[in-house]
Amino acid sequence: MQNKLFIITIGLTVAGVILLLKSLVPVRVIVQKLPEGNVRNRWKLLVSLIFMFILGYVLYPFLRTPDSFNSISTLIVPGIFFSGAVFVFLVCSLSLKTALDLQRIYVLEQENITDPLTGLFNRRYLDRRIIEEFQRAMRFEQPFSVFLLDIDHFKIVNDTYGHQIGDMVLKKLSHLITESVREVDVAIRYGGEEIMVILPNTKIKNAFELAERLRRQIEETIMVAADPRKGQPDIYLTVSIGVSEYLFSDGWDNAQKVLQRADMALYQAKGQGRNRVLISEEKDDQC
Ligand code: GH3
Ligand code: MG
Ligand code: MG
Repeated sequence: MQNKLFIITIGLTVAGVILLLKSLVPVRVIVQKLPEGNVRNRWKLLVSLIFMFILGYVLYPFLRTPDSFNSISTLIVPGIFFSGAVFVFLVCSLSLKTALDLQRIYVLEQENITDPLTGLFNRRYLDRRIIEEFQRAMRFEQPFSVFLLDIDHFKIVNDTYGHQIGDMVLKKLSHLITESVREVDVAIRYGGEEIMVILPNTKIKNAFELAERLRRQIEETIMVAADPRKGQPDIYLTVSIGVSEYLFSDGWDNAQKVLQRADMALYQAKGQGRNRVLISEEKDDQC
C-alpha cells in the first residue's frame, strides 16, 4: 500500500513537473514578443514562480519519510500540485494563443486602414477618423483643421519618366509629409496623388502656416535623384493645398463639410496658378 501510494505520488510529481516545464515554452514566446515594461516583467516573474513550483514539486516526496505514505489522503497534496500544474499549463498556452490572435487582428486592422504604396492611412480610415475628430471638436469645443494637397502637373511626371518614377515621387512626398507634420496630425492618401492631413486641435491660422511651410519644403526637395544613364534629371515638383477649419455652423451631423471646403480651396489654388496654399472662403472672413 505504502509503495503504491509513493509510486502514485512520484507519478503525479513527474507529470506535474513535465507540464510546468512545457508551460515555459509559450511563456518564453510571450516574453520575447513583449516590449520592455511592466507586463513583460510580470511574465518574467511568472517564469521565476514556475521554477519555484518545480523545485517544490521535486522536493515534496523526498522531504517525507516513506512510511508517511500510509493513507489515501496523502495523495491530496500531490493531486493539488498536479492540478496546479495543469492550470499553469492551460493558462500559459491560452495566453499565447490569445496574444497571437490579437497580434494577427492588429496586423489585419493596420492593413485595412493603410495605403500599400505610400504607407499613409487610406480613405477608409479617413471616413472613421473625420467623424471621431468632429465629435471630439463638438464635445470639447475645440477647433480642428484639415488640408488637402494635390501634386501640380503630376501627369507630366508620369508621362515623361514613367509610372514607376511617379510611384517613387508619391512615396517620397508621403515620407516628407509625415516627417513634417506633428505626431498628432494624421496623413491620409485621399486619392491618386491627393493627400489629406487632419490637424486636431488646430486653428486655421496655424494649419495655414504648417501647410505653407510644407509647400515650400516640397518645392525645394529633390523628389527623385537624377539618373544620368536614363537621361533623367533631378525631379522637383510643387503642390497646391486647400486648407479649411471645422466650423460650429457645420452642425451636429456634418463632418463632410470641412472636407468639401478644403477641396474647394484646393480647386481655387489650382485655378489661381498652382504652387500655393489657399484657405477656404467661408473661413476667410473669420481670419
Ligand atoms: P493638376 O496640377 O491639375 O493637379 O495636374 P495633374 O496632372 O496632377 O492632374 P491630376 O491631379 O488630375 O492628375 C492625377 C494623376 O495622378 C493621374 C495619374 O496618372 C496620377 N496618379 C494617380 N495615382 C497614381 C499612382 O498611384 N501612381 C502614379 N505613378 N501615378 C498616379
Ligand atoms: Mg495633381
Ligand atoms: Mg489630383
